[in-house]
Amino acid sequence: MKGMTVMDLARYIRNIPDFPKPGIQFKDITPLLKEKEAYRYTIDALAGLFRKNKVGVLVGIEARGYIVGAPVAYILGCGFVPVRKQGKLPAETISSTYELEYGFATLDIHVDAINEGEKVVIIDDLLATGGTTAAVIELVEKLGGEIEGIGYVVELEFLHGRKKIPSYPVHSLIKF
Ligand code: AMP
Repeated sequence: MKGMTVMDLARYIRNIPDFPKPGIQFKDITPLLKEKEAYRYTIDALAGLFRKNKVGVLVGIEARGYIVGAPVAYILGCGFVPVRKQGKLPAETISSTYELEYGFATLDIHVDAINEGEKVVIIDDLLATGGTTAAVIELVEKLGGEIEGIGYVVELEFLHGRKKIPSYPVHSLIKF
């Protein structure tokens, strides 16, 4: 993208103190999404990481993971699989419950979303403690998917989320 670099992307992440709870500094990516060059650069950069992986499906995590993951899947020419919060997917699902930086949550995936041995990439907007990603990994592995790698726009390195997901290549564009 013309003139844009990974360094510049950090300028478009807005800090919201004490959201959604006191003590949490929320990294708001909406200024990045709104800026056409920054959004395009972000999507192209993430897609570039997995271009050679012959990805079968990209798994995106509700909801900001869709905004980032779906256009990456489009560029990679692979399918898109939504992981959703509990009770939203209409067909038969499997679930995984996990601890978040701010609470607990359960995530669902359709049982027929991934074929045995299919190559999978996981995309979310942000890596914090790694709990969400660990839960998604559990779902993908249960369905027999082979995880090629995991990509994020933002990584909060001080939370050491990578320690929860040691088995796979992890990429992030912006580190705080
Ligand atoms: P974690 O499971 O702790 O890695 O949290 C990652 C998930 O929670 C991602 O889907 C993020 O969108 C969201 N999240 C956690 N912490 C933050 C934060 N400080 N700012 C923005 N999003 C966050």
